Amino acid sequence: MPRLCLPPLTALTCSGMATAGDPRPLPQQDKRRLIDWDRRFVWHPFTQHTLWNTVDPLVIVAANGDYVIDADGNRYLDGHSSLWCNIHGHRRAEIDRAIIEQVGKVAHSTQLGLASPPAIELAKRLVDVAPAGLTKVFYSDDGSTSLEVACKLAFAYWQHRGRPERRLFIALKEAYHGDTIGSVSLGGIDLIHRTYQPLLFQTLFAPSPYCYRCPLGRSPETCGLACADVVDTILEEHPGQVAAVAIEPLVQCAGGIITAPPGFLARIHNLCRKHGTLLIADEVATGFGRTGRMFAVQHEEVTPDLMCLSKGLTGGYLPLGATLATEEIYQAFLGPIDSGRTFYHGHTFTGNPLGCAAALASLNLFESEKTLERLKPRTACIASHLARLADNPHVGDIRQCGMIAGAELVRDKTTRESYPYGLQVGTQVCLHARRYGVILRPLADTIVILPPLAISLPNLEHLLLTIERCIDEIVPRIRNGLRPDSPGSDGLE
Ligand SMILES: *Cc1c(COP(=O)(O)O)cnc(C)c1O
Repeated sequence: MPRLCLPPLTALTCSGMATAGDPRPLPQQDKRRLIDWDRRFVWHPFTQHTLWNTVDPLVIVAANGDYVIDADGNRYLDGHSSLWCNIHGHRRAEIDRAIIEQVGKVAHSTQLGLASPPAIELAKRLVDVAPAGLTKVFYSDDGSTSLEVACKLAFAYWQHRGRPERRLFIALKEAYHGDTIGSVSLGGIDLIHRTYQPLLFQTLFAPSPYCYRCPLGRSPETCGLACADVVDTILEEHPGQVAAVAIEPLVQCAGGIITAPPGFLARIHNLCRKHGTLLIADEVATGFGRTGRMFAVQHEEVTPDLMCLSKGLTGGYLPLGATLATEEIYQAFLGPIDSGRTFYHGHTFTGNPLGCAAALASLNLFESEKTLERLKPRTACIASHLARLADNPHVGDIRQCGMIAGAELVRDKTTRESYPYGLQVGTQVCLHARRYGVILRPLADTIVILPPLAISLPNLEHLLLTIERCIDEIVPRIRNGLRPDSPGSDGLE
């Protein structure tokens, strides 16, 4: 039997204890069967199964508010918002009810040739909250498909405008736009994108605005946004050939919570206008309040030509994607039926009524709970803990944009040297956090702080203190060549 990596119940703090109303723990034989079947039948995303299969996975059977609950009845703070999508907490009565009401009407009807009330009302609401100028909503299934739609719209737009030579895309190194082939073509993370290179359409890459490890070797005080100048150069070198520039506004999340310096986004937007090309804003991770505004582009008063939404769109409840477009792009697709201008693209579940109903309920909560106004003490809480973490000997850099934050662990604070990937330092720290009732998932050695926007202040405090504690407990062990979880080492066994 491999050693269990689950925390013993006694190690959980009181915030992790079960409360009345939680589901009963699963009988042990049921849990064992699920884990056995998981190993035999499930292929997990972004997962090396030679590692996965050596430890028992946490089986999440329920959730409530800030917590997810495992098969043994242990509660864990959802420190990564169930992969960056939960907004108002789990089991929100308002969203639950909206979905149940919609199930009582129709669970699915198509957008191809038919219309449906939730999709209509949501489109209106999205246009109302989006930057002025985005007037049309094209639905799809998730973040990746919302990017596929944006790429195809940008590409076809120039054909319809009689400028077919505008067919190149520009993206940033360390960018992540999804895992389908089109969105991978815009991806700049070598580890996950390199393999597929021969399959991809041509994208020109500009440097990431990663100030801690500036690819241009500059310093943020004096660089004058030199990385944005590279975008200018690329556009100049390919006059009239670029269809669109794709960008994750303000934060390259999957790239490692890389926060762009102020003005970077506005500068890229200006360059797009100067060179007459389109701007695609991928707000899949940053949208819906994550950065402190409804959409990240609003911080720099940018209206992109195309804006991609998913993750938080349904409050993190159901898969749904949307690509917002300007009137000008929409108009370019109009014409007689034989004009070749029809956008021949759509998915079976495009505009699914359940997803749209959840999204409407989530937008209602933004209004009734004043979600954005209430972020201030939360972002301030994260900022003050990060300031402390900055002094931690193992933390090289801290980065924050609203309710998105990261602490990058380094082997050497002076040289900024990283740990070897094989050591999985970030992962070990995050696994350790489960002993204190917190679920986290790192990006390489950057510890990611991305809780539900509605997380309570005491829970947020616990989350942040746990991160500090886990770094202090685990990193020295790894540096000393010890197994992070050797028995008897920390009194938790
Ligand atoms: C998660 C993410 C995507 C992909 O969304 P999926 O729903 O996983 O396909 C695209 N862009 C960004 C910025 C993301 O964070």
